[in-house]
Amino acid sequence: MRCGACTNNAVLLNPAYCKSHFVKYFEDKVFDTIKRFRMITPSDRVCVAVSGGKDSLSVLYLVKKFLDAKKGGGSVVALAINEGIEGYRQKTLDDLKLFCSQQKIELRLLSYKEEFGTTLDYLVQQKKIAGKPCGACGTFRRSLLNRGSKGFDKLVTGHNMDDEVQAIMMNIFRHHLELALRSGPKTPQNPAGLFVQRVKPLYFCSEKEVRLYAHLQGFLTTFTECPNAAVSFRASVRDFINEYEAKCPGTKSMIVQWFLDTIGKDSSKKRSVISSVCLACGEPAVGTRCGSCTIVEQLRA
Ligand SMILES: [Zn+2]
Ligand SMILES: [Zn+2]
Repeated sequence: MRCGACTNNAVLLNPAYCKSHFVKYFEDKVFDTIKRFRMITPSDRVCVAVSGGKDSLSVLYLVKKFLDAKKGGGSVVALAINEGIEGYRQKTLDDLKLFCSQQKIELRLLSYKEEFGTTLDYLVQQKKIAGKPCGACGTFRRSLLNRGSKGFDKLVTGHNMDDEVQAIMMNIFRHHLELALRSGPKTPQNPAGLFVQRVKPLYFCSEKEVRLYAHLQGFLTTFTECPNAAVSFRASVRDFINEYEAKCPGTKSMIVQWFLDTIGKDSSKKRSVISSVCLACGEPAVGTRCGSCTIVEQLRA
């Protein structure tokens, strides 16, 4: 199969592109998404959440490239979270440090240990938290992304189209409207200024495209999924969607398009807005305690 734009062999079949035309197609798609949804302006101070996986390395690299080209005074900082899983995260963090120093990007690190006095390993071992440790871990993670992005204009995450389609379908299957409204390429501004706006420049890029892009760019990643991850429901939704996509190509992009046309475009009106803060730590909270402080208090009890 030949590239649709030149005579070289194609590295991707749908659309058919050679290496250099695929890289251009992918980068143009990401930059167009940034512009179309006004995700980042040239003078923005941007914080990029990084796990060290292909998605976060690609989005970090492209946000830097976008801001460098605009020359509008904007800047980018990478933010990584150390959950504290023995023998699991250190190699990834070392690789991240190397990547950021090569790209001349400042890397900031927040850890559960320093911020909450506990580690994910400890959460898994003891039985004070009901259910899977993943819920508590997710709450800690959201808190730290919020703390770490304070003072920035935008928080960028590496969610790709497959992640979004899975989230949309999972929320439909479970009738979680409130959670579904958190999806979308850009979160609305919090009127009380408690959250930095979150944006997803890879929103229209499939997982396969991101994997190919990271591979062609030589972004080495040793990142692996958390050994405790409760992936069964997501994995079954993912497999079902992938099977359907194979039969009817274009299904994934139809699903995100449907979401954007119906729920996504005025999600700000339907979302409940958090406007109060935790009395213990000052972070956004629904009641008098944020989720993270509630968990820390349960652990101490
Ligand atoms: Zn080509
Ligand atoms: Zn708190």
